[in-house]
Amino acid sequence: MSNSNIRNFVVIAHIDHGKSTLADRFLEITNTVESRRMKEQYLDQLELERERGITIKMAPVRMAYTLNSKSYILNLIDTPGHPDFSYEVSRALAAVEGAILLVDATQGIQAQTLANFHIARKAGLKIIGAVNKIDMHPPQLPQVIKELADLIGCTPEEIHKISAKTGEGVENLLEAVIEFIPASSEAPLQSEMQAGLALIFDSFYDDHKGIIVSVRVFDGEIKDDDEIYLIATNTHSKIKEIGYFSPQLKPTKKLTEGEIGYIATGIKDPKKIKIGDTITLNPKHLALPGYEEPKPVVFVSFYPEESDDFEDLKKALQKLKLNDSALKFEPDFNEVLGRGFKGGFLGKLHFEITAERLEKEFKIRTINSFPSVAYKLGDIFISNPKDLPDDFNEIQEPIVKLEIITPIVYLGGIFQLKKIFRMSDIQTQNQRDKVLITAKMPLAELISDFDDKLKSVSSGFASFSYELIDYQKADLKKLEILVAGEPIAGLVRIFPKKNIESEARKIVERLKKILPRQQFSQAIQAVAGGRIIARETIPALKKDVAGYLYGGDRTRKMKLWKKQKKGKKKLKTMGRVKITAETFKKMIQ
Ligand code: GDP
Ligand code: MG
Repeated sequence: MSNSNIRNFVVIAHIDHGKSTLADRFLEITNTVESRRMKEQYLDQLELERERGITIKMAPVRMAYTLNSKSYILNLIDTPGHPDFSYEVSRALAAVEGAILLVDATQGIQAQTLANFHIARKAGLKIIGAVNKIDMHPPQLPQVIKELADLIGCTPEEIHKISAKTGEGVENLLEAVIEFIPASSEAPLQSEMQAGLALIFDSFYDDHKGIIVSVRVFDGEIKDDDEIYLIATNTHSKIKEIGYFSPQLKPTKKLTEGEIGYIATGIKDPKKIKIGDTITLNPKHLALPGYEEPKPVVFVSFYPEESDDFEDLKKALQKLKLNDSALKFEPDFNEVLGRGFKGGFLGKLHFEITAERLEKEFKIRTINSFPSVAYKLGDIFISNPKDLPDDFNEIQEPIVKLEIITPIVYLGGIFQLKKIFRMSDIQTQNQRDKVLITAKMPLAELISDFDDKLKSVSSGFASFSYELIDYQKADLKKLEILVAGEPIAGLVRIFPKKNIESEARKIVERLKKILPRQQFSQAIQAVAGGRIIARETIPALKKDVAGYLYGGDRTRKMKLWKKQKKGKKKLKTMGRVKITAETFKKMIQ
């Protein structure tokens, strides 16, 4: 049985090309969201998404539409565009049959347009091309249409011309989804069984309903009173509620083959939920192909600002992991900052977003170490720079293959970044007025401030994507920072030998400005290979803050003394050197 009236699709695009705005128009046309409740980028529900104006989480929504007096159910999944969240995209792709590939006509094809296109192709999806923002009348429109048609392998006439802002062409596009995207999978996977079989493609925690999984049913049906079995974690549970995304949770009686919806699992332990796992009613069933485990590439240790928040932080991370299966963490301990976690992330933005979600959704503020990549020392991986010995034979670092798309005029500026970011094997390929640059670059450089620098040399017009390809031998050294003779945990970093002195200078100068004065003078020293390679001194405080208030004003003096006392209490002691959490945060930035 195949559900001929169901279409499951994603919208994929480079960041800011208009996916979420297009989803808004779809929600309106299909009357999914009442017009009085409609707001821009409706599917970006996380507070953080609204604040930052970017999509972080995939967001599924079910819509109803009638075409030629036949009614259809359309399941749309909006996806993030930033490379750090491409794991979200790839999971969404496994739950659908088709994709709208959206390109901002004023920008043309960008690095993430290509990257997402290739993932969608590989997933075997039917791809419909659309150029957006035609209300801006970009002069290059015909050319962008041609480029997109060439990429997808269709005719320029088949590319939809739309404005997600004004709604022009959007209804046509929705009808094309019904016409061209296949209705659920052609051959049911285990048709003779016809029992419920569903793929978990996401999960989250709901304060009232507990652990909820987002599913795509691939065979049979699942009813709201069924007993389910999760194959990978060997777990039985009685369903508490079943439903679909409207986009709010909307309970229903059952989900049938081809449908996308949610199941409130009744399971309490987050460890029992594995993204990519198969839910079935018959434990004898074989599992659906799941997902490749994402590999973390950026590592950061983080600690609760208030040390008694450790248990809360642990619980928060477990809940967050339900909603972010790419998140990896393990307990960590730091002499100064206490108990915390070492997290593995898919990129620097992924880490930043995690820290912000902890603060916003769980009210836990954290202090973190510098992000690091994992270095290879023989057979062992070192992802915390402090674990690197002073002496070693050979160290290898992770290398990415970088693809940059830029208008030709900025090529010179981008080449200037070559040396700073240790780019190699650079190749260029002209594509009309643009250039596709491919290059190799250490991942460590990518997570420094490559993103910002590329934007600034190209006035924001260059975009990039990357993938980890290799480990290569590198000339690196460990840099430690000592304040008043004590090493400051969390400030150890690894740098290329040839940059280490200039980096060390920069760091000590910065710290001199940030660190508060103490009753004694403090030396800031940068040490590499047992040698001090940069130093600064912070002079001592004047002994008595009230000293300058000679004479009579006794009450004013008292106030100041009190304040000084209180100030002392508020200091969080980090070893003998007193550094407040605030200061530590500044040092890391
Ligand atoms: P996403 O990152 O792909 O989800 O992009 P958004 O939907 O968040 O849109 C990015 C920006 O482009 C927002 O400021 C939108 O208002 C704007 N935008 C989206 N579609 C259009 C369009 O058709 N015309 C114009 N002029 N602006 C648009
Ligand atoms: Mg978006």
